[in-house]
Amino acid sequence: MTDMYLEAKKLGLYLVKIRRELHLAPELGFKEYKTSKIIQRELRSLGIPFVVMATGVVGLLKGKRKGKTIALRADIDALPVYEETGVSFASKNKGIMHACGHDAHTTCVLGAAKLLSNMKDKVKGNVKFIFQPAEEIADKNRDGAKEIIKAGAMKNPKPDAVIALHVDAPGEVGKISVTYGPVYANADFFEIKVTGKGGHGAMPHASVDSIVVSAAIIQNLQSIVSRNVSPLESAVITVTMINAGETSNVIPPFVKMEGTARSLNAQTRRIIKTRMKQVVTLTAKAFGAKAELRYFDGYPAFSNDETMIGLMEKAGVRLLGRKNVILRKEPSMGGENFSYFTKIAPGGFIWLGVGNKKKGITSALHHPKFTIDEASLPVGAAVLAETSLEFLNSK
Ligand SMILES: [Zn+2]
Ligand SMILES: [Zn+2]
Repeated sequence: MTDMYLEAKKLGLYLVKIRRELHLAPELGFKEYKTSKIIQRELRSLGIPFVVMATGVVGLLKGKRKGKTIALRADIDALPVYEETGVSFASKNKGIMHACGHDAHTTCVLGAAKLLSNMKDKVKGNVKFIFQPAEEIADKNRDGAKEIIKAGAMKNPKPDAVIALHVDAPGEVGKISVTYGPVYANADFFEIKVTGKGGHGAMPHASVDSIVVSAAIIQNLQSIVSRNVSPLESAVITVTMINAGETSNVIPPFVKMEGTARSLNAQTRRIIKTRMKQVVTLTAKAFGAKAELRYFDGYPAFSNDETMIGLMEKAGVRLLGRKNVILRKEPSMGGENFSYFTKIAPGGFIWLGVGNKKKGITSALHHPKFTIDEASLPVGAAVLAETSLEFLNSK
């Protein structure tokens, strides 16, 4: 039996080279032109046919024997962050950085592609490599997962399962974490416009103070989490932006706010939506003002499929040992558009430890000093490849 981790470690230099090449030239969502070219070049060199979809790439490895199809998904975009790591391969694109480790995700899936194409005779069925653009994009109308799925990433053949990983900053290199049940939240967002009546700062009685109204709205919104949602459920409402006013002696007529609402299931999401509308409009009404709420559904929540996460855990234990596979009990209230793939096929999602306290690699995701211990790359590639073989050989 092949020791997949050993095989992956043999690819160590290759993985580091690819990761640094990607890290040097990060690109924002839907602008991953160069990134896409690097992925295409690598798949071509492996003899894996691919289709370009938006700025994403979908490769298909056909095994020697017929069977099921598993998809390995990596997100490939970077963030609008000024890199401050000081590494020799730091971003050459000023103000853009792979601060969420998507360079590592791309590398791990390319690594798995290399591992599996080196052992094609063992692959019973197909492995799809989905390099998805625009995961980080905060756009109401577009995101990379939806677009690449619409373009056909999950068709011809339709995967029977889909797996992915995300780098885990506090997680130590050499370890992975798995979660049974909910993994990420419904990541919705909202805009509120409050309309009062402008006036002199010294004569509030002659105005309708949109700022006081907004303060009341912000306070009241918190009661949805504490009083409407069950104490046993998780929910977040955060106002992240307030814009109003020009100077100290004028009461502004308008306030604009934005924020995010998070939940782990459809019922809590419904409660938040309904109550937010009531709280926003009726609080304003109580002050003689008007307020309008626009609520947008963001990335949906998802849970790991029990069989798939079971296979990933098993692969991890076999390759890394029991003590290096951590069971994480709690989901994240963050969002991930991997969820769209899990609506089509059972999904498994793990966290890949990339931190190393001894080397001082401890910065959080999205931080300008975020970096990874590159010894994590063979770990990620091996777990993805091992799980793929395990899944394809299972009944
Ligand atoms: Zn991120
Ligand atoms: Zn990310």
